[in-house]
Amino acid sequence: MSRTTTFPVELSEGKDNTILNADRQAFVCTHCGEAEAFPPMPMRVDAFVALTKAFIDRHDTCHLPPPTKALSLRQPWAWLMIHGPKDIENRPLRWKFRGRILVHAAAGMTRQEYYEAVRFAAERGVTVPPMAELARGGIIGEMTITGCYTAHPSPWFMGPYGYTTIGRKPLPYRPCKGMLGLFTPPPIDP
Ligand SMILES: [Zn+2]
Repeated sequence: MSRTTTFPVELSEGKDNTILNADRQAFVCTHCGEAEAFPPMPMRVDAFVALTKAFIDRHDTCHLPPPTKALSLRQPWAWLMIHGPKDIENRPLRWKFRGRILVHAAAGMTRQEYYEAVRFAAERGVTVPPMAELARGGIIGEMTITGCYTAHPSPWFMGPYGYTTIGRKPLPYRPCKGMLGLFTPPPIDP
């Protein structure tokens, strides 16, 4: 018996964030409108379920207003979290905070830290954009912190404390000053 099934199937999942394959060729978020085309079919059911779950995790908060607290990350790490596959934020200290936060890209970036991060990402199969293309000094996205680990199988875990994340996604760039720790950026101008 073959475990491969040919889709299309009807999908509807999430909290009040409904994701369905409206045109039967893509996942579509009914809140932000982002579409992600299905990979070539047929494919294994378990692989398809994993893709579905990843899409739902990423769009789980699209029906909510943006978070109000922000965390400043240095580039290109901020890019790797929001546009890349980096799913763990490594911090030197244990931190109680869990939940949704805005991701701020710090204004400062040295050549040395850029190239160190580029090498680290390349070892994990990820190409970082050129320095000049990385947004800095503003809000670039949001993510949800779900847990804190001192060991984790993710290739992005460095420790000593690795904060797992879901729902990492870009938001329109909004320039603002970053601060240490969790901070509240000024509200969006109407
Ligand atoms: Zn969405």
